[in-house]
Amino acid sequence: MKITGIDSVVLRIPCPRPMSLEFADHRMVAAFISTDQGLEGFGYTLAFGGGGAEAMQVYLETRLKPLLIGEDPRLVERLWEKMFRADRGIRRVGLAAYAVSALDIALWDLAGKAAGQPCYRLWGGAADRVEAYGSGGWAKYRVEDVIEEARFYTGQGCRYYKMKIHDPDPRVNRQRVEAVKKALGDGVRMMVDVNQKLDVLSTIKQAQMLEDLDLVWYEEPVLADDYAGLAEVARSIKIPVATGENHYTRFEFRELCERRAARYLMPDVGRANGFSETLRIGHLAAAHGLQVSPHVVHEISLQVAGALSNAFLVEYMNWAPADLFVELPKCENGWFRVPDRPGHGMALTPDAVKKYRV
Ligand SMILES: [Mg+2]
Repeated sequence: MKITGIDSVVLRIPCPRPMSLEFADHRMVAAFISTDQGLEGFGYTLAFGGGGAEAMQVYLETRLKPLLIGEDPRLVERLWEKMFRADRGIRRVGLAAYAVSALDIALWDLAGKAAGQPCYRLWGGAADRVEAYGSGGWAKYRVEDVIEEARFYTGQGCRYYKMKIHDPDPRVNRQRVEAVKKALGDGVRMMVDVNQKLDVLSTIKQAQMLEDLDLVWYEEPVLADDYAGLAEVARSIKIPVATGENHYTRFEFRELCERRAARYLMPDVGRANGFSETLRIGHLAAAHGLQVSPHVVHEISLQVAGALSNAFLVEYMNWAPADLFVELPKCENGWFRVPDRPGHGMALTPDAVKKYRV
């Protein structure tokens, strides 16, 4: 089988309320790989708030696509190495890693379709169902909006809910988290997300003000770049630290592991160089006794979580409009069944490209 063509497109995905208070829309960079045998692979990455999507597409089209044309798409490891090692002057972090991710995901989609198997089963298969946590709770929501959003998820059986803590006053964050926890009751445990907005001392102070709330984790406490700071926070607070949505390679995750900078690693399949590298990160985490909780895009993260015995929850953020994908996985009693269609199981509706194309 040979790759005969690759098309890519940037889609503008409008955000539903109340997420739109924070982001008007996201951009999806989608890639379609065609072959001489008629099989097609679909991959994508999601740029939150749209940042950098156009640059990702240009890098994909001009630097990565020429490396794949004419190759056998089933040799994913070989092609991943080819993409990862191609440009010596550009590291596969940031925008370039998003572009590699979209293509790697499309290659695995093709490999799964060629084998007639869903990806998670090709990779060994640890579970065909994965529990989910509801995620949102953005800074611009009123507390009432946060509670209403949380109930959207708990109403589907989710036993976990994550909210942002972005107020400059740590006491306000404490009040908001406490109010949401009280409204949700004992059956729901919570996580909080700093999104890198604090420095080491302020984040330690903030975490200490939340220590009695039985939180599952405290996410992205400081800048993702600051490994020493992350490790200092992890040593200093009682809530387990989670981080990783802004780390891109196994080498960066190795740094997190060796410094004991987090208990939960959160690679994003659309950022961390695709399914291939995310699986390696998952196995690396297992070697350090750490759990993996993939960042957003749960509809495709489910394949990775279903292949790792140290996966813990997928992030269920209701970002996709109903007419974008042919079929979205359904949350049942707080769990998602891993799509068992060949490949990763997701496909755009026939009209999605026309409707959402930038
Ligand atoms: Mg986060």
